[in-house]
Amino acid sequence: MAIAGDQQAHLIVVIGAGPAGMSVASFMAKAGHEVVILNRDIKFGGLAEYGIFPNKLKLRGGLRKTYWEILERPNVHYFGNVSVGNKKDLTIEDLRGLGASALVFATGAQGTKTIGVEGDSAVGVYHAKDVVYHFNRLPDFAERPFEMGRRVAVIGVGDVMVDIAHWLVQYKRVEQVTAIARRGPLERKYNPKEIRAVCSVIDQDALAKEFARIRPRLEAVGQNPDEILKDMLDEFAKWEPLTSPSKIGFRFLASPRRVLTDGQNRVRALEIEETKLEPKGEDTAAVGLKQYYEFPCDSVVFAVGDRVDETLGLPYKNGVFVTNPSKTNHDPDDALFQAYDEASGKVVDGVFLAGWARKASEGLVGVAKRDGEWCSEVASRYLNAQPARDRNTIDGVVRRLRGLLEERKVLAVDAEGLRLLEKAEQERSPSNDGIGEFKFSSNQEMLAQVRNKRETCKVPAGH
Ligand SMILES: Cc1cc2nc3c(=O)[nH]c(=O)nc-3n(C[C@H](O)[C@H](O)[C@H](O)COP(=O)(O)OP(=O)(O)OC[C@H]3O[C@@H](n4cnc5c(N)ncnc54)[C@H](O)[C@@H]3O)c2cc1C
Repeated sequence: MAIAGDQQAHLIVVIGAGPAGMSVASFMAKAGHEVVILNRDIKFGGLAEYGIFPNKLKLRGGLRKTYWEILERPNVHYFGNVSVGNKKDLTIEDLRGLGASALVFATGAQGTKTIGVEGDSAVGVYHAKDVVYHFNRLPDFAERPFEMGRRVAVIGVGDVMVDIAHWLVQYKRVEQVTAIARRGPLERKYNPKEIRAVCSVIDQDALAKEFARIRPRLEAVGQNPDEILKDMLDEFAKWEPLTSPSKIGFRFLASPRRVLTDGQNRVRALEIEETKLEPKGEDTAAVGLKQYYEFPCDSVVFAVGDRVDETLGLPYKNGVFVTNPSKTNHDPDDALFQAYDEASGKVVDGVFLAGWARKASEGLVGVAKRDGEWCSEVASRYLNAQPARDRNTIDGVVRRLRGLLEERKVLAVDAEGLRLLEKAEQERSPSNDGIGEFKFSSNQEMLAQVRNKRETCKVPAGH
C-alpha cells in the first residue's frame, strides 16, 4: 500500500538487497512506508543469487519469486548497480543528506577473513567467497581466472567448504580436495544434509586412516573415535548422485602455518602444524604441538568465514560494525541492530544494521530474513518517535537521489530494467558450466541488454 496524498509515513533507505535487506524492505513497505533499495549488484538477492550452490534452482527460484513480489510494490523503489561507501557511488554522508527517516545497512559481509599466514598472497591462494561468487557468475568474479591445479586444500570444515568441494569435484574435476581442520572430526561444522551433495566421493579408506592417525589425541580428551567415525559415515548413508573421478579427504588436528611457494610464487604446499585438543569450557580448543610437516597442494582456499567491509564508512572495529553496547528498554538485544559511534559514545541516529552486515557469516537465508524482521521492529520503534513525512517530502527524497545518481553518471538499474534483463537471460540456453541457467557475467553486458531491450520495446510494432 503506497501512502496516499495526505497520509504521513516515512521513507527508509535500505542498503543491500540480499535476504536481510529484502526482508526489511518487505516489512517496511507492508507497514505503509516508502522504501528505497540501493544495491551494489545489478540483480537483487545477494548470496541467495550469488552464494547458494548453483544446482539449488528450486530454492533460488522461490526466493527470486518472493523478492520480485517485494520489488513490484508501488512504494518500493529499486536502484541496482549502486555502491555505497567511501569513494563509491554514494557515501553515507550523501545518504544522510537525502533526508530519509532511517538508513538500514544490510550489505552482508563483503570483507574476507584470513588466518594471516605467511604466503597467503601467493598465486593459487583464494578466499572462499570469491570462489563462490566466481562459480555463481557474479560480475567482476565471473571472469577472473581461478587456477586450482590438481590438489586443492580447503581450510575449514563448514558448509562453505562443502560447496567449494562440490564445485571442485563436479565442475573443475580436480584430483583431490582436502578439508583442513585445526580441531577434530567431532568439531566439524558442516550440516549433515549439505554433505550429502559430495559424500559419494569422500574417500572412506583415507578417512579411516586419518582417524587411526589422530586416535590417541581424540582419546586424550575423552572423545571416542569409533563413535565419531560411525556418526560421520552414517551421515554419508544418504547421498546425492555425483559422478566425478575426484576424491575428497580430511586432515584433522592440522593448523596451517605457511603457504609454501615455488620460484614463481605459486602454491606448492601448505606447512601444517600438528595440534591437540584441550578442553575449553563445554568446548575444545586446538593447541599447536610445534611439530610441522609439508602437505603438498596446488591451491589453497580459505573457507574460514567473512567479515564486513570497513570501507562502507560505518563505525567499525575488529571485523564487525560497532553496535550499541547499552541495552534498550524494550528487548536488551534490540541494541545490537543500532549502529554506534564509540568516539562520541552515541548511537548513530537513524542508522540500523541487519543480516550478515550485523553478524558476519551467521546462518542461512531464513536467519537473515528473521534478522531483517527484528531490525525492522527496532527501526519502527525509532520511526514512531520521529515526525512523519508527507508525500511531497518523500517524493523530494527520491527526486534528490535520482538527481545525485544522474549527476555522478551512475547507471542504476530499476525493477523494470531487471525484468528486461531477466527476459534477455531466459531467452538464452543455459551455459554448460553447471549453473543450470544463463547468466551474463559482466555489468557491461547486463547494462547493454537492459538498454537494447528498452530500445526494442520503444519501437512500435510493424517497424
Ligand atoms: C557459499 C554460501 C552458500 C550458502 N548456501 C546457502 C543455502 O544453500 N541455503 C541457505 O538458506 N543459505 C545459504 N547461505 C547463507 C545465505 O546466503 C545468507 O544467510 C544470506 O544471504 C545473508 O543475507 P544478507 O542479506 O545479510 O547478505 P547478502 O546475501 O550477502 O546480501 C548483501 C547485499 O548487499 C549488497 N551490497 C554489498 N555491499 C554493498 C555496498 N557497499 N553498497 C550497496 N550494496 C551493497 C550486495 O550486492 C548484496 O545484494 C550460503 C552462504 C554462502 C556464503
